[in-house]
Amino acid sequence: MADDIAALSAPILGRQSIERIPIAIIGAGFSGLGMAAKLKAAGRGDFIVLEKAAEVGGTWRENTYPGCACDVPSHLYSFSFATNPNWSRMYPTQDEIWRYLIDFTDQQDLRAACRFGFQATNLDWVEDADLWRITSADGRVVEANVVVSGMGGLHIPNRPNLPGLSDFRGQVFHSAEWEHSVKLSGARVAVIGSGASAVQFVPQIAPQVAQLDLYQRTPNWILPKGDRRMSGLEQAMFRALPPVQGLYRALIYWLNEVRAIAFQRPDIIRQSERQALAHLHAQIADPALRAQLTPSYTIGCKRVLISNDFYPALIRPNVALITDPIARITPNGVLDSAGVERAADVLILATGFKPMDLITGVAVTGRDGRKLNEEWAELPEAFLGSCAAGYPNLYFLMGPNTGLGHNSMIYMIESQIAFVLDALAVMDREGLASLEVRPDAQRDFNAELVEKLKTTVWASGCKSWYLSADGRNPTIWPGFTFDYRKRTRRIPREAFVTRRAGIG
Ligand code: NAP
Repeated sequence: MADDIAALSAPILGRQSIERIPIAIIGAGFSGLGMAAKLKAAGRGDFIVLEKAAEVGGTWRENTYPGCACDVPSHLYSFSFATNPNWSRMYPTQDEIWRYLIDFTDQQDLRAACRFGFQATNLDWVEDADLWRITSADGRVVEANVVVSGMGGLHIPNRPNLPGLSDFRGQVFHSAEWEHSVKLSGARVAVIGSGASAVQFVPQIAPQVAQLDLYQRTPNWILPKGDRRMSGLEQAMFRALPPVQGLYRALIYWLNEVRAIAFQRPDIIRQSERQALAHLHAQIADPALRAQLTPSYTIGCKRVLISNDFYPALIRPNVALITDPIARITPNGVLDSAGVERAADVLILATGFKPMDLITGVAVTGRDGRKLNEEWAELPEAFLGSCAAGYPNLYFLMGPNTGLGHNSMIYMIESQIAFVLDALAVMDREGLASLEVRPDAQRDFNAELVEKLKTTVWASGCKSWYLSADGRNPTIWPGFTFDYRKRTRRIPREAFVTRRAGIG
């Protein structure tokens, strides 16, 4: 297979070295690697994977903050076609997921197809040749008939525009770019943001630091985390009896999937607020602190968090929860709006990502010079979250409106991979040079989404990263994941316009 790739992708020597290949996948995280493995399984060796870093892993390579873990159970947060009987915990930690992806790459023999250190900066559709020209930051060029973007939805750190931030004299870093060389033990640390990442690392660093001030803008709903070690017996059983592991995985899937109903019905999901409040009451005795930690919006509107050790960390004598808004960052610390300045040696920005920036860093120019970055600046919009009118032969994994509040993203990724495989099969069968979704099909699909989203919990009135500045929702799939899978099993042929190979 590596020989196939070498033959197909032989560089064209000349002024510029150009690698030509039928299919280019951008990104070697869950999405890109899954796509590559499924292409191989379908007997195709005609692809390469372009990865900006020196190793596979995507978000699970990048995020290394203490306590980093996934809040989807291990046995579901893995490919259905590459299950792992040896997960050590119910909920996987970052190092174990990263190891899973490295092992997956080697087991599926995908390394030869990976071009590491290739940071795509431009993607230009070359109309007369029916191909995409992909340029990297260091000037390399790849030309591919079909491009699959596996660039991920949450990877551009959101740096808050706090006045005075650049004057801070201590160390500053974002939680997604954890500076392991910065000494935290004995330091005064200010953490800005109290979302999914902060909830995981605050309990880890609190015992080491001299003082931890946690600046919370909005409290989160937090449920208990049913985490535990997987026993040796369970692991042995899963190794010996793969169907039992399959059943276990299916059970986790369906237990999560039924929650989709609640997310569509704020009146139903509100019932789980009782469980979250009981968790808060069981762990926090101080009524004033409890009040600060009690959200005022409907559970599920912002991402629901799970943690057993976040609340206990907040009652440590060296930890303070600050809910007065930040007025400014000073050279020595943080000044809040009540006029209190708290000194800090280290500032950790746990301020999340820019989810709307699905293609940030890559300028995408489609048919007739259309600019996807401009079209998506206000609101990303696609057809089935997978492709966009004006951009032939370009597919997105984890594209607009494919995010979930209730189940595993890996399931959605596998659905999208099937969609791309079907599109490729149609192209082969019909001898097509290009396949492009019709604007009216995309419009109708998005009108349907808008209608469905109206009555969901995400539209119940909170401010969240799921929503655009004007309150529209380009991130969430508002329904069952099995319904999404059904719709992406085959490309709806009538929704696409085509160009035959060799016809101008
Ligand atoms: P996040 O959940 O978006 O949290 C960001 C936090 O920073 C929020 O508390 C936010 O407050 C605050 N913030 C943002 N800008 C601010 C500003 N200018 N001033 C003060 N506070 C500010 O980000 P995250 O914790 O990195 O997680 C992002 C997403 O990554 C998650 O929702 C999840 O999808 C994924 N993730 C998953 C896991 C997991 O599997 N357990 C772990 C980490 C991340 P507001 O709430 O008021 O906006």
